[in-house]
Amino acid sequence: MPELPEVETVRRGLAPTMEGAVIARADVNRPDLRWPFPAGMAERLSGQQVLGLRRRSKYILADLASSETLLIHLGMSGRMLVSGDPLGQFVHEHPAAEKHDHVVLHMDNGARITFNDPRRFGAMDLLDTATADQHKLLAVLGPEPLGNAFNEDHLVEAFEGKNTPVKSALLDQRIVAGLGNIYVCEALYRAGISPTRKAGRISKQRVAALVPIIRDVLAEAIEAGGSSLRDFRQADGELGYFQHRFDVYGREGEPCRTPGCSHEVTRIVQSGRSSFYCRSCQS
Ligand SMILES: [Zn+2]
Repeated sequence: MPELPEVETVRRGLAPTMEGAVIARADVNRPDLRWPFPAGMAERLSGQQVLGLRRRSKYILADLASSETLLIHLGMSGRMLVSGDPLGQFVHEHPAAEKHDHVVLHMDNGARITFNDPRRFGAMDLLDTATADQHKLLAVLGPEPLGNAFNEDHLVEAFEGKNTPVKSALLDQRIVAGLGNIYVCEALYRAGISPTRKAGRISKQRVAALVPIIRDVLAEAIEAGGSSLRDFRQADGELGYFQHRFDVYGREGEPCRTPGCSHEVTRIVQSGRSSFYCRSCQS
C-alpha cells in the first residue's frame, strides 16, 4: 500500500505534465472504484485547466479552473502511469489500454495520465475547492507531519493520558495525518521507543524527540522517491513505488542495525498490523 512518501513521489512525478495543462478529454471506463465516481465526472474534468497539484495526507488534490478539485486516492494497489508525448521528465510509453485502466486523462500537451487499479480500493471524487477541507475524507485529518502544525506541543498534548500503544497513537490520523505502518515502525526504532509502550506513559522529552525523527524518516523516503524518478528506474512510467532501505520494517529475524546490538528484529502483531522492532534497543 502506498504511504505518504510514495504519494508525494507520485504528486511530484505528475506535476510536470499536469500543472498548467488542460485536461482535453477524460475517459472514465467504469462507474466506480471503492465508491461510485461523482456524477458526470468525465464531463466535469474535460476542458479544465489544472491549476496545481497538492497533497493532503495520502490524497492527491488537483485544483481545476472550474473551482472544483479532483481528489485522487491510490488505495491499496492504485498506480498512476504517464505516457504520450515527452513533455515531462518522467514520461514513458504505455501505449495500449490495459485491463485495469479505469480513468485516463488526455492532457492538451499530449501526455496521458492513466489511473490503473486492479483491486479497486482507490478512489476519485470531485469537490468544491473552497470547501475541500470539509470533505468527509479530509475533515477528520490531523496536521500534516511535514507541516508546522505538527510540532512538539501538539504531539505531547495528543499523547497526554492516552492508554493506547504508541504505535496505534501514531497511526491515528487525527493525531498526525498520513503516517502509515512502515514509517511508524521506522520512526519508533530511531526514537528507541517500543511500539507496545502506552503513549501516555512516555516522557515529554521522548515524545518531543519523535517529531523531528518522524519528519526525517519521511523526508528521507521522499528523497529516495525523488531519486527513483530522476534515475528512470521505473521504466514503464509507473510512479510512486520505489526501493527504500528500511531499518526494521520487513526485517523479522535479521540482525538489528544498531552498532553493538546483537539482537534480531522482532515482529509482533498489533491491531492486526505487523510491528517490527528491536526488543533491546526500544523500550
Ligand atoms: Zn537493537
